[in-house]
Amino acid sequence: MAEPEFQQAYNEIVSSLKESTLFEKHPKYEKVLPVVSVPERIIQFRVTWENDKGEQEVASGYRVQYNSAKGPYKGGLRFHPSVNLSILKFLGFEQIFKNALTGLNMGGGKGGLCVNLKGRSDNEIRRICYAFMRELSKHIGQDTDVPAGDIGVGGREIGYLFGAFRAYRNSWEGVLTGKGLNWGGSLIRPEATGYGVVYFTQAMIDFATKGKESFAGKSVAISGAGNVAQFAALKVIELGGTVVSLSDSKGCIISNAGITAEQIAAIAEAKIHFKSLEEIVGEYSAFAENKVKYIAGARPWLNAGKVDIALPCATQNELSGDEAKGLVAAGVKFVAEGSNMGCTPEAIEVFETARSTAKSVSDSVWYAVGKASNCGGVAVSGLEMAQNSQRTRWTRETVDKELKKIMINCFNDCVNAAQEYTVEASKENLPSLVKGANIAGFVKVADA
Ligand code: GLU
Repeated sequence: MAEPEFQQAYNEIVSSLKESTLFEKHPKYEKVLPVVSVPERIIQFRVTWENDKGEQEVASGYRVQYNSAKGPYKGGLRFHPSVNLSILKFLGFEQIFKNALTGLNMGGGKGGLCVNLKGRSDNEIRRICYAFMRELSKHIGQDTDVPAGDIGVGGREIGYLFGAFRAYRNSWEGVLTGKGLNWGGSLIRPEATGYGVVYFTQAMIDFATKGKESFAGKSVAISGAGNVAQFAALKVIELGGTVVSLSDSKGCIISNAGITAEQIAAIAEAKIHFKSLEEIVGEYSAFAENKVKYIAGARPWLNAGKVDIALPCATQNELSGDEAKGLVAAGVKFVAEGSNMGCTPEAIEVFETARSTAKSVSDSVWYAVGKASNCGGVAVSGLEMAQNSQRTRWTRETVDKELKKIMINCFNDCVNAAQEYTVEASKENLPSLVKGANIAGFVKVADA
């Protein structure tokens, strides 16, 4: 069966490794590649439930338990009509190396359900989650496999899934992360992926400008309007940047004056009810005074005007080669993915060429691949597991400090790996964070 998304993720890692000196310097690592490429286990199961009209529905559920060398399988659940094995294998494969880059002991996995949740009632979503967990509960546990959220699975769904797990297994354990605060969740977990992307980007800016610049005064194009995009945007605003765009699957909003925290709060509230950005902009008072421009059927990249920083935070392959060219022409300096595999291979090529052929660091473009820049979400999931094991809860400050530390360590690991194993890094140019992330993540897993 053709698995285009998985092939794309696999090719990215393999080309990073093969273009580096890693296998030449340490031939033993090459033997790990075919082993880590095959999932340890794939579970596929039938999920059936009764919808609100009283009809029976059926969908395919999956859990890809990819690699447990470093710890229990860990990774999100995606509930979306696009879900198939190719997508879950790509996400699970990425997750192995992402989780390693957090520096915590977690293996990699991913799961999901091919379903469209839009327009379904709370009650029906609860029945879907119970039906899904009826089978999944046989295969997961706090020391074997710990799922979390991803696209389509947020706090509400994790709540239903956790209740179902307790019912089916008669056991309270930290088997899911992203839980509510009253039943074992961690502070900062909802914020973690978005905040983490911004902390990682801050580390890039620090390195490239030798500490002279920050987010302050920069215009930042963000795509997506879900959990990752919302908290990335809020952190950018807190650090003095201007958020010039957000988007959903139907269109994007652009504001040269900057999307406000109040507008982001309105989006967060409305998204639970599956409202589109077009509806939100038309209906919510937060958009009455401080108007934004809505463009139907468009993504932000070629519509946001001057962009210093681009943060794709929606889904895979959401930034094309042509859009990358447009961003470079519009003066983008930093690109960091909040989504998994947000940039197409053509877009990565454009950014990497702009970096490696730049005459000086100041006219360079620096691109961070998702498995490094968005590892903050799963990192705080790891911290949630630690808190569950200790039967304790850390303060907001403690978790945020740990998250920052993890993102900075991850950044340093990427830079160090690129400097050690890529020939081009010995030149004046900024090191390749794509190669650095892939090499550093791979080495950690191979060593395990
Ligand atoms: N779905 C998130 C990711 O792509 C988080 C996974 C987790 O917390 O286990 O990394």
